[in-house]
Amino acid sequence: MRLATVATPAGSTAAVWQNDAWRALPAPDLSSLLASGADWGVGDALPDAVPVLPLPRPGKVICCGLNYGDHIAETGRETPTHPTLFAKYADTLIGPHDDIVLPAGLEVDWEAELAVVVGATLRNATAAEAEQAIAGYTVANDISVRDWQRRTLQWFQGKAWDATTPIGPVLVTPDDLDPTAGVEVVCRVNGVERQRGDTKTLVFDSAALLAYISTFTVLRPGDVVLTGTPGGVGMGMTPPTYLRDGDVVETEIASIGTLTNTVRFTH
Ligand code: MG
Repeated sequence: MRLATVATPAGSTAAVWQNDAWRALPAPDLSSLLASGADWGVGDALPDAVPVLPLPRPGKVICCGLNYGDHIAETGRETPTHPTLFAKYADTLIGPHDDIVLPAGLEVDWEAELAVVVGATLRNATAAEAEQAIAGYTVANDISVRDWQRRTLQWFQGKAWDATTPIGPVLVTPDDLDPTAGVEVVCRVNGVERQRGDTKTLVFDSAALLAYISTFTVLRPGDVVLTGTPGGVGMGMTPPTYLRDGDVVETEIASIGTLTNTVRFTH
């Protein structure tokens, strides 16, 4: 099943893809739909519906760094015993075709990622319980401001710039997608492939991350966890290469969809 928040001429709504059309679900967006927990009655087909930011109000956005072997190697670090976690705010999220707007002069880098969306409340969950609580999977790009990330040991200030993390375009439910069996996570910049990783090589898979996080904080329906990026980020290139004004970043997981976002520097 494919779920989305779609914009229509009559406003935005949660929607499900059925019989070659987006059909309305009884909530204004997927954040509200997942929080409602109600049975979903499927409404009419929505002509001219376009997927937008799927989850406008997650209570928590938690990210895992250093979760693919090739990316760990390019950062020069050891394979971690525990997930390397940091948080973003909901204010960081933008839609699948929105511009990434930042001040000029920053070292702005790409990080294509699989994101897992929570579908039920989790606290002290086992991996098996966490797996049962997955609402679905989507695509994200953990756009990172490297010079700010490196200012201190904590990465937070390089990862939490408002309106810089594209996510979407749709949420694919676990009955239709199993990342532990392997899905490719790809990033292209101006059409040139920069990253291609396989989720079956993740050090910590989605269920393991949700279970681990749930030991210290409650996860609720609609919360989002970014599972980390494969090798090939700009910081790891020789010389390091960062995004420029007008660059087009495509982030793709073929079985979910593609984010296409243009970088716009303000002066
Ligand atoms: Mg990341």
